[in-house]
Amino acid sequence: MAPRKKIAVMTSGGDSQGMAAVIRAVVRTGINMNCDVFCVQQGYNGLIEGGEYIRKTEWADVRGYLPRGGTPIRTARCKAFYERPGRLTAAKNMVINGIDAIIICGGDGSLTGADRFRAEWPSLLEELVSKGELTAQQIVPHKHLNIVGLVGSIDNDLSGTDATIGCYSALDRISTVISWVQDTADSHSRAFVIEVMGRHCGWLALMAGVASGADFIFIPEQPREDNWKEEMCSIVKKHRDEGKHQTIVVMAEGAQDRYGKKITTDMVKDLLSDPHGLDLDTRVTIVGHPQRGGKPVAHDRMLATLQGVEAVHAVLEATPETETCFIAINENKIVRKPLMAAVQATKEVAEVIKAQDFEKAVKLRDTEFADMYNSFMITSNMNTGEDMTLSAEKRMKIGFITIGAPAGGVNAALRAAVAYCLSRGHEPVAIHNGFAGFARHHADEDSSVRPFDWLEVDTWATWGGSEIGTNRELPEESGMELIANLIAKYKFDAIFLIGGFEAFHSVLQLEKARDKYPSLCIPITLLPATISNNVPGSEYSLGSDTSLNELIAFADKLKLSASASRRRVFVCETQGGRSGWLAMIGGLTSGATAVYTPEEGLSMDMIVADIRHLRDVFQQDKGKARAGRLILINETASKVHTAKAIADYIHDEGHGRFQARESNPGHTQQGDIPSPIDRCRAVRLAIKCVKHLEQFGPKAQHDIQKIKKDPLTASVIGIQGAAVVFSAITDLEIQTDWKNRRPKSAHWMYMKDIVDMLGGRPSYPVPE
Ligand code: ATP
Repeated sequence: MAPRKKIAVMTSGGDSQGMAAVIRAVVRTGINMNCDVFCVQQGYNGLIEGGEYIRKTEWADVRGYLPRGGTPIRTARCKAFYERPGRLTAAKNMVINGIDAIIICGGDGSLTGADRFRAEWPSLLEELVSKGELTAQQIVPHKHLNIVGLVGSIDNDLSGTDATIGCYSALDRISTVISWVQDTADSHSRAFVIEVMGRHCGWLALMAGVASGADFIFIPEQPREDNWKEEMCSIVKKHRDEGKHQTIVVMAEGAQDRYGKKITTDMVKDLLSDPHGLDLDTRVTIVGHPQRGGKPVAHDRMLATLQGVEAVHAVLEATPETETCFIAINENKIVRKPLMAAVQATKEVAEVIKAQDFEKAVKLRDTEFADMYNSFMITSNMNTGEDMTLSAEKRMKIGFITIGAPAGGVNAALRAAVAYCLSRGHEPVAIHNGFAGFARHHADEDSSVRPFDWLEVDTWATWGGSEIGTNRELPEESGMELIANLIAKYKFDAIFLIGGFEAFHSVLQLEKARDKYPSLCIPITLLPATISNNVPGSEYSLGSDTSLNELIAFADKLKLSASASRRRVFVCETQGGRSGWLAMIGGLTSGATAVYTPEEGLSMDMIVADIRHLRDVFQQDKGKARAGRLILINETASKVHTAKAIADYIHDEGHGRFQARESNPGHTQQGDIPSPIDRCRAVRLAIKCVKHLEQFGPKAQHDIQKIKKDPLTASVIGIQGAAVVFSAITDLEIQTDWKNRRPKSAHWMYMKDIVDMLGGRPSYPVPE
């Protein structure tokens, strides 16, 4: 059968983690959709060189690409492509190979070049015919060129998308370096000035500042006022006076003052170490190229994969009239957007920075950027230019409680919420060890209800677990009357819960008990935090990213071991309770052959079909390297077919031609240091939660009936599609599968087909 289309895929400009995963997704999706896919080596250089540089790529050629750093098909900056003769040769090579669609992964320059190429395409073909380099017949099937862009860049500098492929891996590398530096800084009471990449974009510096709880940041979009030297020194002094033993200043490469004059790391170092000023023992660390390297984190693998798949669909659906698009992500939604509008907006940022219109520069970045910037200002006590403190009658006493198993980012959320509360004049109070701790406190009069100590909380930004202790007990188990009385006794004006499904259930119990106990007629909100990511109302829970990264680090090692022993399948059990999210996304980001979830169920027929498939692939693989396979199974997918049982079936059916082993990462999936994504989102969402609570005002001003009637007074914050929203617990109650402790519909289920397709799994009978 003739291919439906011939598509070229290439990487161009600076490399970033996840580019290899893009190639894998594009090649396999293309082949799956009956297209021929050609990898172009070395960016536009390869298009101009032609010949060996443009290679038809097969399914197995991209095996092992998913976890790879860098770009195996290489990338380049190509001068010749800026000029028409270069693009003319490139067009000729494309037509010779029958290619008229390009999926390109690169920065704004690469994408601009591609758009230009597309605009010129008809005239390039005409010129080639007029020069006799191609015949009129040769160009007939290739009258239109389709381009789809994927943004691969560690800087996250393209407008219109929240994240570029690679940016979270770079952030991960930076956050790791900072956490190492923090240990030594703390031991020696030193200050560190840390420079990260970002000549025109401060995203990496900003997010690193948020994730690590830095003291001060310098980003090109928001130079501080003329007195920045005094401001920085006074903030550092304040933090030191409060008892901090370390100082971290994060600078983007493009740090500058309001007049465009570069601020260097040495300038900042000299200020911090000035013997007549702060007199701090100060060192400079330039993170440099390690930011570009290493394996992509789960988010980049997911982004690269989903966007790669979407890019192939976009190419196949494009008509000559379709505007050139790129694939973006907004919050949690993959979307197609006009390319040149985004490139223009990106250029505009540089222009407005030059014109010193810094407010506009931040606005031109996405909403997350502005939120994160404000969050950083609040948590680092930087001057936001306005007095944040509320008048006395608006201040609230807010009780904080964490419920359920530990999840990464809970401490970062507490820290941010407490910082925000303090900046507003609220009284944040820690209720230790969940509702059980609250109830016991009543009995023992121990000190499990106490105000937060900022000096202590300030160190929590990067810590795993929950420093205020957590417990699974629901308020009804502790005694609702007792809990209601305690809330009255402590005169709480609002309750802020952090936790997973038990926390979700607790909010509902508290809401339902309001008729009986008026003290519960206060605003209550939940910030979801659980590695199972099963809280209704949000597609994302704190801790889920940390655990996903733990799982794929484990899965990568299993795959390597399976490949080294050539003919081996690992069957790996994942946590997640009755939610298959972790297993499914783990499968998507580690390249599993099959994923078994409780949502889908697991039958003998499915296992038999998968064993047949394994027989086939091991037969085809004969003699080839990298032939290990991985199957992920959620811990509750089946009562009968456990990971061990499935491994045994496979092993037995392999008849010596292949083997199988079971493996279980167990509680390591809860993670250690929370991922930067969990830490940054914790900060952003926690501050939004306190803002949500404070809009209802303190108890003295509550109209009980009004509180009861307003469904959003008992709410859950969540990321849903492209938005951050608060949902009423009463609305979510009916969207919940209570028996299975998960939402009735799994927002991620659509990824199953993608996992199966990219893993080469044939369709098989689905259980009744
Ligand atoms: P990074 O964000 O890492 O800098 P980038 O894609 O923006 O990545 P550039 O060096 O700007 O990197 O562009 C990469 C290549 O894309 C260039 O070397 C050139 O070949 C091509 N290119 C960029 N801009 C254009 C343009 N306006 N016209 C034609 N080709 C271009």
